[in-house]
Amino acid sequence: MLERTLAIIKPDAVASKNAGKIIDMLESNGFSIIGMKKAHLTKEQAKKFYIVHKERPFYDSLTTFMSEGPIIVMVLEKENAIEDYRKLMGATNPEEAEEGTIRKMFGTNIERNAVHGSDSKESANFEIPFFFNELELV
Ligand code: UDP
Ligand code: MG
Repeated sequence: MLERTLAIIKPDAVASKNAGKIIDMLESNGFSIIGMKKAHLTKEQAKKFYIVHKERPFYDSLTTFMSEGPIIVMVLEKENAIEDYRKLMGATNPEEAEEGTIRKMFGTNIERNAVHGSDSKESANFEIPFFFNELELV
């Protein structure tokens, strides 16, 4: 069944001008981009997006990072999109990510790891409407 997931090119990868290469990898791996926008989150918006991590030690640093510059937010559609995009992203820590994954290629460290992806249907159902109205998904 066709599935949707939320993908973000994080501020580190936008600033280093790797967005085009990442988008190319998404398309060549069979994902359709059905929504796309550039945004610059405030710290407060980043805290809302990552509310699930509010008790974690990295929450403050993560939300400062995610609001430091523009991001590119996309909704991807594909069979099994959530799991397949997590595989293409690679492990959270780029040092542990497999060769050929986005985080291995473009991530710097466990925080500045180039991309975000929904980790479950439940998180996709929170994250997609956080950024997109249904009418913006085509
Ligand atoms: N993160 C961090 N330190 C950690 C774990 C995570 O800075 O020890 C950051 C990193 O940017 C990560 C995000 O917080 O992508 C969300 O963490 P999560 O565990 O959900 O990892 P993900 O789902 O992004 O792989
Ligand atoms: Mg996560």
